[in-house]
Amino acid sequence: MKTLNLVFLGPPGAGKGTQAERISKRLGLKRITPGDILRKEVGKGTRLGKEVEEYMKRGELVPDEMVLEIIGAELKRVGQGFILDGFPRTVAQAKGLDKILESRRWPLHAVIFLDVSDDEIVRRLGARRICLRCGAVYNMITSPPRNNETCDRCGAHLVRRRDDEPETIRKRLQVYTQETAPLIDYYEKKGLLVRIDGARPSDLVTYSVEKALEELSGKIRKGGHRNP
Ligand code: AMP
Repeated sequence: MKTLNLVFLGPPGAGKGTQAERISKRLGLKRITPGDILRKEVGKGTRLGKEVEEYMKRGELVPDEMVLEIIGAELKRVGQGFILDGFPRTVAQAKGLDKILESRRWPLHAVIFLDVSDDEIVRRLGARRICLRCGAVYNMITSPPRNNETCDRCGAHLVRRRDDEPETIRKRLQVYTQETAPLIDYYEKKGLLVRIDGARPSDLVTYSVEKALEELSGKIRKGGHRNP
């Protein structure tokens, strides 16, 4: 399969991280996840980490310029064949991404949109637990650990992400609706949006994403794909 440059889009808790990880492994793509990069900076207590910590705690977006700088540097580092997971999240970020890609003459092949309702998001995020030691992610409803609240991989005690508290979940959904949902239209107009029903079991979602990407690769090989 020819290498692909992809964006994964969807509300918080839609399964972007899980799907992006699986697809990146299967297709040999590099995954770029601003949320993880920012959480690491906060954990290490760097200057950037201190600057972004409060935004993250409140469930607000970090300023566009900061995120664009991080993404620009990461893209330069990894090259083509990537999945952007959790970026862009505003129209300004999408326009910034267009500029970065144009300057390098790199195409964006598709935007995989994982479609999940608000009710389902609230249910899922409330049940999410993470391992701070090894980064594993669980869901107490859909993918629980074998032993209650203990990481299967490394045995550490699982915790809720700070921004998965009910109050913050509501705030993040509100931010998503206002700032990020307009990107559905933005990419639909560019002919790049691939809509996937993300409410189904995660293996089925992976299957649908893979099928869609196979079709897309076929079109690219035949030269029928429009690069905006
Ligand atoms: P996530 O792990 O993707 O849910 O991101 C966690 C938090 O990191 C978000 O609530 C934001 O505060 C921040 N963040 C992650 N990605 C972005 C982005 N593209 N733009 C602005 N803030 C972001």
